[in-house]
Order: sequence, then structure tokens, then C-alpha cells
Amino acid sequence: ASGAQVPALVIGTGYGGAVAALRLAQAGVDVHMIEMGMAWDTPGTDGKIFCNTREPDYRSYWLRTRTKAPLNYFLGFPIDRDIPRHTGVLDAEEFGGITVYQGRGVGGGSLVNGGMAVTPKRANFASVLPSVNANEMYDVYYPRANAGLGVGTIDPAWFDSTAYYQYGRVGRKHAQRSNFPFVFVPDVYDWDYMKAEEAGTVPKSALAGEILYGNNHGKKSLQKTYLAQAKATGRVTVSPLHRVTSVAPASGGRYTVTMEQLDTSGNTIATKTVTADRVFFAAGSVGTSKLLVKLKATGVLPNLSGEVSKGWGDNGNVMCGRANHLWDPTGSLQSAIPCCGIDNWAAGGAFAEVAPLPTGIETWASFYLSITNNPHRAQFSWNASANKVELNWQTAWKQPSIDMAKTIFDRINAKEGTIYRTDLFGVYKIWGDHLTYHPLGGAVLNRATDNYGRLTAYPGLYVIDGALIPGNTTVNPFVTITALAERNIEHIIATDL
Ligand code: FAD
Repeated sequence: ASGAQVPALVIGTGYGGAVAALRLAQAGVDVHMIEMGMAWDTPGTDGKIFCNTREPDYRSYWLRTRTKAPLNYFLGFPIDRDIPRHTGVLDAEEFGGITVYQGRGVGGGSLVNGGMAVTPKRANFASVLPSVNANEMYDVYYPRANAGLGVGTIDPAWFDSTAYYQYGRVGRKHAQRSNFPFVFVPDVYDWDYMKAEEAGTVPKSALAGEILYGNNHGKKSLQKTYLAQAKATGRVTVSPLHRVTSVAPASGGRYTVTMEQLDTSGNTIATKTVTADRVFFAAGSVGTSKLLVKLKATGVLPNLSGEVSKGWGDNGNVMCGRANHLWDPTGSLQSAIPCCGIDNWAAGGAFAEVAPLPTGIETWASFYLSITNNPHRAQFSWNASANKVELNWQTAWKQPSIDMAKTIFDRINAKEGTIYRTDLFGVYKIWGDHLTYHPLGGAVLNRATDNYGRLTAYPGLYVIDGALIPGNTTVNPFVTITALAERNIEHIIATDL
């Protein structure tokens, strides 16, 4: 309710926010979480909470009238379609040079992501977060995060036998014939549930193509892990469809948090203020950066560090497809959950996931999302006349990512006598270089904040999400975001409360 006073307010319900809420609540602190997206706890008229990737409806996109599928062409034809404007689960947020995909709703990115739960190689960790004690991370916080998230790995024997991972086996064969290390990638999907899906004893989810617009069954999103545990403490409340617009200093060292309540068409139906002793920014790399940049530029929090806005990166994301020979089909049945990858990080700066193309028909395509060591970093800025935050990423900055991904796929194509697909991202366009799924940075640890996420000019304000990570994690990011949040909140609870 407007006018309320809370000890701890968390902006956003993704990984950083969920960890903060659970650990604060366990330490005896009452927590209020504010989430701009929907609760995603109520089925639609079809009995399902989320819609299928193959049939996007009003639930698919955040306030769009047309879908904006990451893979937006097939056989050279555009596949996007009109949809009613609704507070759907996937946001394709457009900046000048890049579209940034993000989850919207209670659970943040965990609602829409592939669930790939990768701990970076220890040797790479220092390049990611040099000010963080790696011993502590690998002895304590990564194991804690993996346990809290419910991370597991596919049964290799099942991988070898199921029709649903033929595309993965083709990916493995091609990687190994070109002498690239092939790795299984852990995931938070319930692998036993997936086996039961194949057996036909439970409703199909991953095996029915559910992923980008939410999984109705097998994926252990934050709703089933950290947020369920947080709720069970009895100390955590969540307000969905509320968007924070301001955090301003108030008397007594507290903060006034202003928010808009939204209806499912995205209209503001009420404006509310709450007073909080402590505020945790967990709105995601883009959400947290946008808030902090605006609040600094408009004089609400003028003393924020000049490092706020900087160090944003795309985790080097770039996508491509390869056209296989007719004797190398990837299968009309494909699990929507990726489970394997090709590791050429040390030699070529690229880690490529063997990704599904769950169209339901044989495509003879191998599809990949590569994470690359792209050196470019962008900065957010406040455009006062347009009243919005902008990002100066340039599309041409993806070229190093393309070059790094080519260290894998040029070699595989040469070995196999195959070519790139040119029909998946436009008419004769090989590279999906227009997007990222992995926004990182904007309020980097030990630069914009202290070494634990404190915004030191304002005691009681903290950053605890992907904004802390300087643009790249060398692998998929959410395990690192979770582990870093576990580290930071433990220190904050011990020191500041
Ligand atoms: P988020 O999870 O983004 O949570 C932030 C939350 O804050 C959101 O719910 C948002 O709606 C809310 N919010 C934002 N602004 C406001 C505001 N002003 N007021 C109130 N609420 C607000 N990562 C992996 O590791 N493995 C994968 O397989 C993987 N696949 C992905 C696939 C897709 C399609 C996408 C989009 C992402 C994927 N990711 C993956 C990335 C991963 O989901 C993100 O890195 C992660 O969710 C970021 O966590 P976070 O806590 O920083 O923020």
C-alpha cells in the first residue's frame, strides 16, 4: 500500500533479487519485492500459464503489437506475427544498435531463459571479476548457487539414445571431427521430468518446444527455487505489475521509492510511494542501469559514482546456423533445452552452445548461440529531451564476435564440406548479430559500487544483479550472477544490518 514503510525493498525478482530476498528474510528482515512484470501464477483459458514458442499469443511479448522472434526468418521468409499488446513475459528492448532480450515477471530472466547453468572455468574467473576472492567463490558461493538453483546435467546414456537430442549428437560429431572440445552443459531443467515427457507419462514441456515464452512444467525457474524458499519464510511479499521510477533520499537515512502500478495493457493505473531503510537494485543489468543513470542525471541521486552507466557488454552473443548434408539430419523432434557446447574459448575466444531449432520439422540445420570474448563495452546516457536512457552500442561492434565464432564454424564447415545457413536472420544473412540474451554491466563491482555492491555515496543503497558484472562472464551468466549475489548479501548482512 502507498505510504508503507519497509526495512528492505528489492527492485526486481530475477536472480540477484531472489537471492537478496531469501537471505535477508532468513536473517529476520522483512522484505518487499517490486516487480514490473506479471506474477505468472494463473493459467489462461487454455489451462496454461505460458504460451508455446511455436504459437506466440498475448502472453509472449512485453507490450508489443508484433512478435520480435530472435530467429526471425525461416527459409528466407519473415515469421513474426501480430499479437495483442499485453504485459507478456519476454521483452525485446530496442536500443540504437542492439535488441536486448529480458524476462518480465516474478522470476525475471529465469522465466524465459534456457536454464543453462554454467560455472565459468576458474582460470577465466579473474578476467571477469579480478577484485573478488576466487577461492571463496569456488569453495563457497558457486556451490551454494548451484545447490540453490537445482543445477543438474543430462544423463549421457539418455543423450545418446533419445530422438530429442539427435541435434546435440550431430553437434558433438561435428565438433569432435574438427578436434574441438565438446562439453555437456548443466541446466536447471528437471532431467527426470524430461525423460518422463518422452515416455508420455507427464505433460510435455521442453519436448513440446516450450522455452522462450516460458516453460509450463519442467524448468526449475526461480519461482520454484529461491523465490519459493523466500515466500516460505513468511517475511517476503511481492508486488507484481509495479514499476519503480524513483529512489530518493528521505529523512532518517531512509529512501522514498516511487512506483507506478500497471494494468496488463501497460497503462499506469496508480502511483505509489513507499519508504525503505534499504533498497536493493535488482532490476537486471539494463533495468538497474536505466534507473541509476536517470536518478544521477536528474539530480535525485547526484552523488552516484561517475562509473555508473559504464562497462556494459553483450557477453559476446552471436548466433548462426550451418546447413548439413542430407545424410546428417538434426531431427524433427528437438528438446527446447540445450545441453551441450563446443569450447574454443582459450584458442579462439568462443564458447558455442549447440542450440535447438524446435520447428517440428526436419531442417537439416545445426544452430548455435556463441558466447565470445568481445572487447567492446558500451555506456548508458540520459537523453533529457526524449526523457529516456540510451545505450551507445554499435551493431558493427559484433564483428570481433563473428570472427571468434568463425574460429569454430569455418573449421567445421571446411571439414564437413558444408556452408552457413543464410535464411535464418534475413534474406542472405548469416549472422544473428543484432541481439543479446545476456546483458551485463552498467554498475560494475568495485567501480560504480564498492567490492560488495554498495552505492557508497548513499548508505543503504545496493546493486545486486547482472549490472555488477563487467560485460562478459565467458559462459552463460546466471550462475555467476547468483553466486556473486550470495557472496555480497552474506557480507552485507554480516556488516551492515
Ligand atoms: P533479471 O533476471 O533480468 O531480473 C530483473 C527483474 O527486474 C525482471 O523481472 C524485470 O522485469 C524487473 N524490473 C526491471 N526494471 C524494473 C523496475 N523499474 N521496477 C520493477 N521491476 C523491474 N543465462 C544463463 O545463464 N543461461 C541461459 O540458458 C540463458 N538463456 C537465456 C535466454 C533468454 C531468451 C534470455 C532473455 C536470457 C537468457 N539468459 C541465460 C540470461 C539470464 O536470464 C540473465 O542473465 C539473468 O536473468 C539476469 O539476472 P538479473 O538478476 O541480473 O536480472
